[in-house]
Amino acid sequence: MTDTQEYDVLIVGAGFAGIHQLLNIRKLGLTAKILEEGDGLGGNWNWTRYPGARTDSEIPIYQFSNPELWRDWTFTEYFPDWRELQAYFRYVDNKMDISRDVLFNSCVVSAHWDDSGERWTVSTADGRVIRAQFFILCTGQTSKFHKPDFKGLDTFNGELYHTSRWPAEYDLNGKKVGVIGTGASGVQVIQAVAPIVSHLTVFQRTPNFALPMRQQTVNADEDRKAKRDLYPIMFSRRMQTFSGFYYDVDHKPIADTTPEERALMLEDLWAGKGLRFWLGAYAELWSNQKFNDEVYAFWRKKVTERIGPDPILQEKLAPLNSPHPFGVRRPSLEQGYFEIFSRPNVTLVDVNEAAIEEILPTGIRTSDGIEHILDVLVLATGFDLLTGAFTSIDIRGQDSISIKEKWADGVQSYLGVASATYPNMFWIYGPQSPSALAIAPTAILSLDYAHPHYNNIVDTITGVWKRLGHRLYQIHEAEQLLKHCPYRGGTACV
Ligand code: NAP
Repeated sequence: MTDTQEYDVLIVGAGFAGIHQLLNIRKLGLTAKILEEGDGLGGNWNWTRYPGARTDSEIPIYQFSNPELWRDWTFTEYFPDWRELQAYFRYVDNKMDISRDVLFNSCVVSAHWDDSGERWTVSTADGRVIRAQFFILCTGQTSKFHKPDFKGLDTFNGELYHTSRWPAEYDLNGKKVGVIGTGASGVQVIQAVAPIVSHLTVFQRTPNFALPMRQQTVNADEDRKAKRDLYPIMFSRRMQTFSGFYYDVDHKPIADTTPEERALMLEDLWAGKGLRFWLGAYAELWSNQKFNDEVYAFWRKKVTERIGPDPILQEKLAPLNSPHPFGVRRPSLEQGYFEIFSRPNVTLVDVNEAAIEEILPTGIRTSDGIEHILDVLVLATGFDLLTGAFTSIDIRGQDSISIKEKWADGVQSYLGVASATYPNMFWIYGPQSPSALAIAPTAILSLDYAHPHYNNIVDTITGVWKRLGHRLYQIHEAEQLLKHCPYRGGTACV
């Protein structure tokens, strides 16, 4: 297909960030298109269909905060699964007619800046060529998946799935299944499939300090009242907190607390839904090793009671000496995860003791000589986070140097929204933005905090047009300044 079109703004990705930008840009009366690799809206949620996949961020925060989008929509669970999230994105589409401005199945392969014409020329894998004045990457954190280079992976004769590209049709009933990885995806797929497979072998490198989700169904009457009285307050409050939820860390110094006070607080947080135990605790969790050890010991005691009596299993899932401080990696939310491992049909392999040596046509051989026979191998091995989506596109700015080369020694950005020599290119929920610290529906609004002059990318676009005549000002100096900043997450240096 060769089809050259021209728009004011081109957006890559039709997830939360891309849809948010499109709605804002429409208000300016500019022409815009979203290029989306998948066949539907929702970004990651259009791809994430593995058994058990659901959000770890609770309702009502995990949705668009535009009243016209929450007023008539009610989720059935506080932590909705992928099916309900896909239904939600279809609802958003019906309500806002998003799809009319989306080119689906359009994988962007290159974006080149033309300095004389002051335009981006963007090409897709299926041969489209589109030109635009502004180019906004809304590719999220997790669009490029990571498939480790295991010896013999291509020789596996069974079914091979990565959690981020799950097939529409599959049947794991009665099969011998292996899962590599115990991050958020691994935890969810493990607890969902263990009861239905004939045998499950979990290959764990680092234990997941998962927290109880405490899933609840949403009561429609209560939700109606919350919409009337609380939703607007909650949506405003989340912009004032550390994590983007409406609850917050407690800044009281640990030195001013008593052991009893801390113990009761931890019990309270543990009984709460979601990530409160992590993001509602004392802020010194991240700076005070002694307090961090106390929190870890509390977590370990709680989960050890659920693992069962086997001390070896307890030590693998909740080691006496934590491999890293509690909370420096995001804990997942679990629903019966720790009980799964004492089932007779589940084996836990610690790959630190028995490394994955080779994938065989029939399964996996580990360094202890054991061959784990598998019908299905699930790679829950994560993503080329944040930069993966950028570096997989041939993005070239004023000096024609690709962003992959430019960032070979590290990302260079202005506040995690733009980069010198790539004029009129912005991103949201990407490298060096506060995306790693907050969930998508909150982080897509983070520019309100990140940019001293403009409220969001839309304001920037109008500001650039009004004040500087089409081109974003040079940002080299600002980038250099940020290079020397101890924290480069995007907001703290402003
Ligand atoms: P992830 O957190 O990166 O976890 C990948 C897992 O694979 C880790 O356990 C990792 O071990 C393991 N692994 C990677 N390479 C390996 C190898 N060569 N040998 C053995 N193990 C290996 O990926 P994810 O679980 O897909 O999550 C990715 C992102 O998506 C996260 O930010 C997560 O929060 C998000 N996510 C969210 C949800 C949700 O909200 N419900 C669901 C899924 C994903 P190590 O830990 O030792 O590296």
